[in-house]
Amino acid sequence: MACALQPDKYMNKTRSTSLLARASKVIPGGVNSPVRAFRSVGGGPLFIKRGEGCRMIDEDDNSFIDYVGSWGPLILGHKPKCVIDAINAVLEIGTSFGAPTEREIVLAEAIRDAVPSMEMVRLVNSGTEAAMSALRVARGFTGRDLCIKFEGCYHGHVDSLLVKAGSGLATLGLSDSAGVPAAFAATTISVPFNNLAAVEEAFAKHPGKIASVMVEPVAGNMGCVPPAPGFLEGLRKLCTANGTLLIFDEVMCGFRVAFGGAQARYGVKPDMTAFGKIIGGGLPIAAYGGGAEVMNYVAPVGPIYQAGTLSGNPLAVSAGLAMVTYLKEHPEVYTTLEARTAALCSDELPGVTVNRVGSMFTFFFTTEPVFDYESAKKADTARFAKFFNHMLERGIYLAPSQFEAGFVGMAHLDSDIDETRAAARQFFEAE
Ligand SMILES: *Cc1c(COP(=O)(O)O)cnc(C)c1O
Repeated sequence: MACALQPDKYMNKTRSTSLLARASKVIPGGVNSPVRAFRSVGGGPLFIKRGEGCRMIDEDDNSFIDYVGSWGPLILGHKPKCVIDAINAVLEIGTSFGAPTEREIVLAEAIRDAVPSMEMVRLVNSGTEAAMSALRVARGFTGRDLCIKFEGCYHGHVDSLLVKAGSGLATLGLSDSAGVPAAFAATTISVPFNNLAAVEEAFAKHPGKIASVMVEPVAGNMGCVPPAPGFLEGLRKLCTANGTLLIFDEVMCGFRVAFGGAQARYGVKPDMTAFGKIIGGGLPIAAYGGGAEVMNYVAPVGPIYQAGTLSGNPLAVSAGLAMVTYLKEHPEVYTTLEARTAALCSDELPGVTVNRVGSMFTFFFTTEPVFDYESAKKADTARFAKFFNHMLERGIYLAPSQFEAGFVGMAHLDSDIDETRAAARQFFEAE
């Protein structure tokens, strides 16, 4: 019955199609970030006109229940009142000064209070910048060059982190992107997620040379993959034993899987952390930080240079502060999201493995458990693409790739979850 699943059959995409043609002449692929192009599911991207609660409305006035949530930030849905009010209030005073403001201290204190491993915080503008800066600080602090990362984890488009595994385990990496000098990729060792033995092997092979182990403590960028019991604890032990800094890239899972991030949820304390997405409340803000001893290596107190013209601007800081404050004052957000996402993921779907941590989830189109990138790649991406388009036709906007996490937010009501489950069941019945 695959003929029931023709993307353009019912949905009007007239304006999105013409906007894509126009955009493609001035913007590579018509999009400002590649995954938005829908390349792995076909059909072309939808141009969005506006958002409201859990819904997005496109330029052809199709309405969707949105499980992408701007790729993570929108834990309170589109246009949450607390964030919009905060932005409106601050517009009165100006958008950027390039000089310190009191509000930045308040946000840094709020992050520190939520995340005790971050005694000191630096605000930046994107998750990429936060991860890149944390890595530089780890290198500057330890005086070492190498970094261990995990296959399938994404830390932004940082040169030396756009790396896939070399030919053998624990060997130096190869770049995943053109334009990255081989010498940069060679500073990174890429090993399988959830595989402590591979990390141990890398340490044994490069003694005294590894500055940092960087990990998404809950992986989201190969689809949602939880840490196996003992994995994060094992990384902590290996890093401590080797004088290596453990960096949690919590850009996606921070303030998502728990108020204090994955480190609160799993009780493992990293040396440094990167945040982004949710802490910006939908505006471009991110942060990195760690213990005071490490962070005092950052300029102007220390020798590690890192800067930003718009870093800490009042607009973005207000939005982030409103978001973090709201989440702190409403701890029930996390129990509510846990229950709603559990309900969303509760159906037995034939040929699908569902991974979920809190309000992050992925339907992997494979019957095998997914615990690292290799096992994720066993998914049937063609079948996923059919599922994606089936859902889109029925007004459900999932991430347009098998290897992405979906997000439930506070604006998704039980009725939205029910509607989504019904649409999904239809797919499997019709298949
Ligand atoms: C999204 C993401 C990044 C990059 O953040 P940008 O704001 O897109 O630069 C880095 N790390 C992780 C874990 C992410 O999910």
